[in-house]
Amino acid sequence: MSSNLVSLRGVHKRYLLDGAALDVLKGVDLEVAAGEMVCVVGPSGAGKSTLLNLLGTLDLPTRGQILYEGVDVTGLSSRELARFRNEKLGFVFQFHHLLPEFDAVENVMMPGLVRGVARRKLEPAARALLEEVGLAARLHHRPGELSGGEQQRVALARALSMEPKLVLADEPTGNLDSATSEAMHALLFQLNATRGTTFLVVTHNRELASQMPRVVTMRDGRVERDERRDRSAPAPTARAAPETEDHEAEASAAEPVEPTEPETQAEPSPVRAGGADA
Ligand code: ADP
Repeated sequence: MSSNLVSLRGVHKRYLLDGAALDVLKGVDLEVAAGEMVCVVGPSGAGKSTLLNLLGTLDLPTRGQILYEGVDVTGLSSRELARFRNEKLGFVFQFHHLLPEFDAVENVMMPGLVRGVARRKLEPAARALLEEVGLAARLHHRPGELSGGEQQRVALARALSMEPKLVLADEPTGNLDSATSEAMHALLFQLNATRGTTFLVVTHNRELASQMPRVVTMRDGRVERDERRDRSAPAPTARAAPETEDHEAEASAAEPVEPTEPETQAEPSPVRAGGADA
């Protein structure tokens, strides 16, 4: 049994596009221990989102193993995987995918409701989580009545609602202005410290990358660098996001890690269409 929360061993991912093979991941080895804060950076097209999708069991590797607490999840049935995801993983994407017709509390309860847990059992924890992310005054607002930063906080609370071991985040602040992003980053550190939740975050945000204790750099389908560093500066303290922010995301003042390739993610779905697994 591995002491790591998750281990990737020799992970390859090949897509077939119009008959041509595209090797997107070319042998990735990565170990993440429980309680770590890991940031994944690298140029657009390096394979970061693909890696996140595989870690999230939303897609399967062409070759290699993905072990959670020593158990290879690549052999699980789709039903078992759905249950695994619901119980063990939380997801935060650039576009939050909140359900527009439900309020904040209901959105946070949704993973539990999907699992068949009674509403009255879920509601106190959902409220407490929303309070923890600074949304005590927005419990019954629907997504359309919340600012971008507030929506992302609801998404974060939802990701934490099943008390996952690992939260996977793909550009969680990619759509937010810089002040709101900073508040969100601080919140990630706060939740890591108070709950011990492991976070693996793909980001182009230099500010966030500079604060993370571990930065994995990907390039051309491989891990190019895996740096751990002592954080000399204390983790930023969470504070309430400005309530006056615009609903439309402003261009983020935080520079992208790869300034030459600003990323636009037109398709919010974690698993892309258009390519077949090899
Ligand atoms: P990153 O997140 O680092 O920008 P991605 O993991 O999104 O990189 O993509 C890596 C490469 O894989 C890109 O060249 C992309 O076009 C390709 N790719 C991603 N998903 C698919 C798919 N479903 N079918 C075919 N090619 C894909």
